[in-house]
Amino acid sequence: MQDILPPDIYLWQKVESVAREVFSSYGFRELRLPVVESTSVFTRSIGENTDIVEKEMYTFMDKGDRSISLRPEGTASVVRCYVEKNLHTLPSPQKFCYSGPMFRYERPQSGRFRQFYQIGVEAFGDPNPRMDAEVIAMLRQCLQKLGLKEITFNVNSIGCPECRPVYREKLVDFFAGGLDRLCPDCNRRYHTNPLRILDCKVDRCVEMRKGAPRVTDYLCNECKEHFNKVLSLLDVLGISYLVNPDMVRGLDYYTRTTFEVTSSNLGAQNAVAAGGRYDRLVKEFGGPETPAIGFAIGMERIIELLKNSVAHDFPTPDVFIAAIGELAARESIVIADRLREKGFWIELGDDDASLKSQMRRADRLSSKYVFIIGEDEMNSGRLKWKKLSDSSQGEISMFEITDFLLQKSV
Ligand code: ATP
Ligand code: MG
Repeated sequence: MQDILPPDIYLWQKVESVAREVFSSYGFRELRLPVVESTSVFTRSIGENTDIVEKEMYTFMDKGDRSISLRPEGTASVVRCYVEKNLHTLPSPQKFCYSGPMFRYERPQSGRFRQFYQIGVEAFGDPNPRMDAEVIAMLRQCLQKLGLKEITFNVNSIGCPECRPVYREKLVDFFAGGLDRLCPDCNRRYHTNPLRILDCKVDRCVEMRKGAPRVTDYLCNECKEHFNKVLSLLDVLGISYLVNPDMVRGLDYYTRTTFEVTSSNLGAQNAVAAGGRYDRLVKEFGGPETPAIGFAIGMERIIELLKNSVAHDFPTPDVFIAAIGELAARESIVIADRLREKGFWIELGDDDASLKSQMRRADRLSSKYVFIIGEDEMNSGRLKWKKLSDSSQGEISMFEITDFLLQKSV
């Protein structure tokens, strides 16, 4: 679990504001949900035989002897809320977004944290492949607006309860002869959840599964048609993608379209965002049959990419006011207050310190301007200004400060 401090925090805020802007232009509205839910919210949706539920959940008994868990992801809670608050009675589609911390008891390693943040979206009530394309396009727009390049859209379809069992059997047949070559986890997965073997990152499992049957060859006609339509809309939108039949995702609730955005500028944990369709989940939560699709962006990995691949200007103070003497100090706090009201970032020097040491601090803060107010300036009603980046300087009336700053477009 990590502390997030400046200057990184500015990148976090940037990602959040870009996402907010993009999501709202697609009509997604924010939900704020609890970080704790009944454990069953996650076990029944994510699936008993998944890494998250088997190994990664922070589960506790509360004082009322109820099993509760810190949320490991957002979709289950959103669906729980959608059903509980009868949001399905509103006109379809209903589109929501959320952001916040998620918790997984993972083995600590680069790119994996035990408290990490996701920004996610969920769209309910639209079975049309157009919605799949819209959601993927929205994700592309976020990443583009952040200036991220060298990212790949991996897409796949993992079928539906009609066609997936057929594929599952093919997969079981394929792996049956090579169990001794799979890792212990995959040996277990072979019995409980064989599709998950395709998701394993252990080298020998990656090697072993080369030549495994591909899910896209076993899709039923409806799923095939859906997938082809999604791909043709991505073509129309100019989104380049890679059909990746190994990408089955680590959660049980997905049906049909799944997708994952990867970056070549990250290490082993190279997925920055992931999502898919989950047409069965609302019904499993006791709601009416409601197709749905969503994705989540992993904040830490996006921030890492931003840090490595995009140049940033971090905010600095607009004005540092250096005051010399008691009277000037009293005046400067009033000036600062007035300017802050207008939205400028103002820092005050320590009037007990020398002008030189105040200037040093202004420099360290990279303030855009320094105002100097001493006894002379108090008498004349004019203050000295200095621009630190080019050392230009001058004088202005204390009554014209706001206009001065606006003119200089600070
Ligand atoms: P991975 O294959 O990387 O373990 P996942 O399939 O468990 O990912 P999802 O549950 O789909 O991940 O979460 C969506 C995104 O959230 C991931 O693509 C990743 O960017 C991020 N993410 C997931 N787990 C963590 C973690 N422990 N620490 C940081 N980010 C994470
Ligand atoms: Mg994981």
